[in-house]
Amino acid sequence: MSNLTVRPRRLRRNEAVRRLVREHAVSRDDLIYPLFVAPGTGVKREISSLPGNYHWSADTILCEIEEMLKLGVRSALLFGLPESKDEVGSGAYDAHGVVQEAIRSIKARFPETYIITDVCLCEYTSHGHCGIVKGETVDNDPTLGLLARTALSHAEAGADMVAPSDMMDGRVAAIRAALDEHGFQDVPIMAYSAKYASAYYGPFRAAADSAPAFGDRRSYQMDPPNAREALREVELDVLEGADIVMVKPALAYMDVIYRVREAFNLPVACYNVSGEFAMVKAAAAQGLIDERRIVMETMAGFKRAGADIIITYHAKDVARWLKEEE
Ligand SMILES: [Zn+2]
Repeated sequence: MSNLTVRPRRLRRNEAVRRLVREHAVSRDDLIYPLFVAPGTGVKREISSLPGNYHWSADTILCEIEEMLKLGVRSALLFGLPESKDEVGSGAYDAHGVVQEAIRSIKARFPETYIITDVCLCEYTSHGHCGIVKGETVDNDPTLGLLARTALSHAEAGADMVAPSDMMDGRVAAIRAALDEHGFQDVPIMAYSAKYASAYYGPFRAAADSAPAFGDRRSYQMDPPNAREALREVELDVLEGADIVMVKPALAYMDVIYRVREAFNLPVACYNVSGEFAMVKAAAAQGLIDERRIVMETMAGFKRAGADIIITYHAKDVARWLKEEE
C-alpha cells in the first residue's frame, strides 16, 4: 500500500473534472480581429506575410465582417493603407480616408460591429515614421495634434473606440481632450501603452507597407529588455485617461502582461502580433506543430498571464475551435 495521500492527478482523470477545475478560459468575447483596409472597390488581396489575411476595400470587407460576426467575434481593429502618402501623413486624418470610409461602410451594414481603430501616422507618412520628422528625429509635440485629429476623424466616422499605437509622450491626453471637446467623451481609448521596438512586427510592416525609410523606431518604442519602464508608461497613460492598456507584442512579454495586471485595475489587452502568427503558420505548414493546439495553448497563456483582451490574427480560427469544443 502506498502512503501517498495527496494526488494531484485525481483532478486530471477525465475531461469533465479537468473542465471543472480549469482556472482560465478563453472566450470569443475576449477577441479582437485586426483587419487591413485599402482604397478602391472589389479588393481582396492576400497578404503574403500573413497567410489567410487580406487587404480589403470598404465594400469587400463587409463579407469578412459578416463571417467574423457569425463566428461570434464582435470587435475589429482597423488599419489603413492609404492611396498616397506624404510627409505629414494627411491620409490618416482625411475625413474620406480609407479607414474613415471603411467605418461608415461597416456601420451602415453591420451596426453591431464594435469598431476599434488604430491611430498612428506610420502607414500614412512617406518616411514611414509614426510622427512628424524633423531632421533625423521624430518630433514629439507637433505630432500630438495630428494624432488627435486622426482619432477625432475616426470617431466622427463612427468608430466605437480608438487605439493610439505611436508611442509619443502625451498622446493619450491630447486625444482625450480632442474627443471630449467635440462631444465624444464616451469613446474609450485603448492605449498601446507598453509597445516594444520588436522584430516580431516584421510581417505586419509588409502587410501595412509601413517600414521606416530611414532609421528605426527605437527612439519612441520601448527597449525590449525593460519591464519596470513598462509600468511607468502604463501609469502615464492611465493618468492621461486611457480606458484600456495594452502590451505589445505578447508572447515574449508575458511577464510584462502579468506585472501590468498586478499593478493596475484597468482592463489589459495584449497584441498577439504578426511575427507570432507567422511563426505558427510557417511551422504548421511544415507539419512541425499542431496549429490548433499550439494556438489554443498560447491563448490560454495570455489569459493566465492576466490579459482580458487578445488582439489576434487567429481570432476567427479560435472562435471556430471554441464553438467546436462547446
Ligand atoms: Zn506607427
